[in-house]
Amino acid sequence: MPSIFCLVDDKHIPLYRILWVSQVPHFCGHEDCDHEGDYEVRLEMDESVWVNSQQERDHVLRSMEAWQTGQEPGPDEGYSDS
Ligand SMILES: [Zn+2]
Repeated sequence: MPSIFCLVDDKHIPLYRILWVSQVPHFCGHEDCDHEGDYEVRLEMDESVWVNSQQERDHVLRSMEAWQTGQEPGPDEGYSDS
């Protein structure tokens, strides 16, 4: 069985709490923003966690896919949009 948790940054996030995952790196232009260039993983309750590489973002997507389909996640070799 695929895990119901996904490791995001340093946190084990229950996959059912994830609402969406950003396709492009964050950019808002605010000087005090700590997350320029990071990918946002949006959670319920107005929370977000962030990953700083496309590889980590793809890991989240693959984990969600595995959880939904009941299949073990494949190797983290990139997520196809097609
Ligand atoms: Zn920002």
